[in-house]
Amino acid sequence: MKVTVDADLCVGCGLCVNTCPEVFEMQDDKAVTKASEVPDEQEDNCKQSKEECPVEAIIIE
Ligand code: SF4
Repeated sequence: MKVTVDADLCVGCGLCVNTCPEVFEMQDDKAVTKASEVPDEQEDNCKQSKEECPVEAIIIE
C-alpha cells in the first residue's frame, strides 16, 4: 500500500500525524509521509487517517 499527501490540499490540521505518527509527520505547516510504502501493521491506522482528513488530501494507492 502506498500513501501520499497532496500538499496543495493539506491545511496542516495535524490529525493524520496524531492518528498515524509512524507514517505521517509535519514539515513546516503541512503533513508529509515518512515513506511512500506503508508498513503492513500501519495500514489500518493509515486508512483511518485518510477518513479523518477534513480536506481529503491523503491519497492511498
Ligand atoms: S489530516 Fe489532512 S489536512 Fe490534516 S495534516 Fe493530515 S493531510 Fe493535512
